[in-house]
Amino acid sequence: MKIKERYVFLVCQKCKNRNYTTHKRQKAAYKLEKKKYCRFCREHTSHKERKL
Ligand SMILES: [Zn+2]
Repeated sequence: MKIKERYVFLVCQKCKNRNYTTHKRQKAAYKLEKKKYCRFCREHTSHKERKL
């Protein structure tokens, strides 16, 4: 059986730019939130998932 994955954006919470794409399991209940480097803010900010 194939694991279904879907792609999501990771959006900077400060400037709202879509800096990263990642993927996660389709039925995962959790919301992704990661500290990542934002080249627009020039610092590490929290990024939340946003659907493609
Ligand atoms: Zn930013």
